[in-house]
Amino acid sequence: MSITENVKTVKQRVAEAAVRSGRAPEEVRLCAATKMNDAPRVREAVEAGVDICGENRVQELTEKYEQGAYTGCPLHFIGHLQKNKVKYLIGKVQLIESVDCMELLEAIDKKAKSMGIVQDVLLEVNIGGEAAKSGFAPDELEQYLPQMAQFSAVRVRGLMAIPPICEKTEEIRPYFRSMKQLFVDIGAKKYDNVSMDFLSMGMSADFETAIEEGANIVRVGTGIFGARHY
Ligand SMILES: *Cc1c(COP(=O)(O)O)cnc(C)c1O
Repeated sequence: MSITENVKTVKQRVAEAAVRSGRAPEEVRLCAATKMNDAPRVREAVEAGVDICGENRVQELTEKYEQGAYTGCPLHFIGHLQKNKVKYLIGKVQLIESVDCMELLEAIDKKAKSMGIVQDVLLEVNIGGEAAKSGFAPDELEQYLPQMAQFSAVRVRGLMAIPPICEKTEEIRPYFRSMKQLFVDIGAKKYDNVSMDFLSMGMSADFETAIEEGANIVRVGTGIFGARHY
């Protein structure tokens, strides 16, 4: 199957899952996780109609950005981000989905302020409490939210998660459900600089389950580009 055909199929599945969850198809955005795919392959996905490109590594993003891979398509950063690399992203990406600690928020705020930009971000939640994964612990998230007011050049627009790998799709559903609960609970409170607009969760193996549980951004790599060759 070609990238174009895969995008068509995935979009159709996204739309059907959206409708199953009582939403309009256009309320759920398809983010192509483009890691390890070169600029021409990314272009094919963009032209086939993905809503967003999501890149994992700053180096890859910079190269493909210069090659015009993402032109005309919103660009998100979705990988682990080091503070010293923030400077390469501000002004290029619409959303940094993977903000996993306060120090990173500080660095983003500082750089965005210096450029006169307000940077939208999502907070990454370590929903499975996994030692090997970064992100805010679900039960400590609320204690940090009042502190978002101090970052005038950052707007928190929602939450992102990568749940633990599960053998069966149904095992992952409770993690998605907990994320939706957090999203709703936080949204019901009023914190300065915080609005719960985007809930980014679900990948190739489980994006339909994620949508059924309330995701409105899904990040799909293999389902669009095929298996990655490391
Ligand atoms: C690679 C990646 C994805 C997509 O994974 P697939 O299983 O290939 O769909 C989604 N989110 C993040 C953060 C990724 O790094």
